Amino acid sequence: MQKPVVDLSDCILCGVCVDVCPEVFRMNNAGYIEITELTDYPQACVSEAIKNCPADCISWDADNEHIQ
Ligand code: SF4
Repeated sequence: MQKPVVDLSDCILCGVCVDVCPEVFRMNNAGYIEITELTDYPQACVSEAIKNCPADCISWDADNEHIQ
């Protein structure tokens, strides 16, 4: 299963991913973006967030072998 990841060192906390795909991305109490744990991630919605992220810091976790 592929899982989206956010590189927090590049994230500028613009909130676009949360606007575009709130079922996956949320801002936690500490003010950082978190990925909601899902068994299946909506491809289209995550792709939209990846496309619109101004810092280009969202990607699919390439390591599919790893079940988290
Ligand atoms: S769209 Fe990108 S830069 Fe903006 S909050 Fe989300 S991960 Fe961070």
